[in-house]
Amino acid sequence: MSANAQMATKYKNSFLKEVEEQVEMGEWVKMCMQCGVCSGSCPTNFHPGWEHPPQEIFMMIRAGKREEVLTSPSMWMCTSCYNCIVRCPRKLPITHIMHGLANYAHRLGVAPKMQPTRHFAKLFWNNCVHTGRVNELKLSMGLYFKDGFSQGIKNGMAMKDVALGLLKAKRLNPFELFGGHKCKDQNGIHAMLKKARELEEKRKALKAAA
Ligand code: SF4
Ligand code: SF4
Repeated sequence: MSANAQMATKYKNSFLKEVEEQVEMGEWVKMCMQCGVCSGSCPTNFHPGWEHPPQEIFMMIRAGKREEVLTSPSMWMCTSCYNCIVRCPRKLPITHIMHGLANYAHRLGVAPKMQPTRHFAKLFWNNCVHTGRVNELKLSMGLYFKDGFSQGIKNGMAMKDVALGLLKAKRLNPFELFGGHKCKDQNGIHAMLKKARELEEKRKALKAAA
């Protein structure tokens, strides 16, 4: 092995390697040149829950800060607006990496439990994956009642004017609670998701073996 290759191996941080193997598009992290354009372009970076903008997350990965990254609420704040991707001079797929990191933290069971956007993501996924269509009424109810029955009633009462307006405009159908829209080929959706999971497992195995 050449001296340069030995140096590269020596300094290859194990968390960066883990991200490259386990996180969707994680192999792109090393391409970040820390210019900060993504952080400056992110519309949610003023939010108090946005602890570490993408540029900082990528720097922390390269610095081996595994626990800080995986337990950070920041990845769960990404709204997939794609501003960062459009403007990144290195063309990093930042949005995908952020969601990939969130998904990896979730798989490991270390993602912040009280993060409301994480709760929403779980509700949304469970809601739509079953029938292939989102049932908005069930999704809203799940969010209202996430902190218990009495808080759910309070949340519902606080939003009653909005609900009445939606009912009047025929944008809300209470019968959706008992069914709602479904994708015509639900078995096809489930088969597609199963295949996607298999492909993802294969991709990770190939990366780990490389
Ligand atoms: S814009 Fe791209 S290169 Fe610049 S800090 Fe963000 S990810 Fe890195
Ligand atoms: S895609 Fe996510 S990380 Fe990128 S600018 Fe939008 S909110 Fe920020």
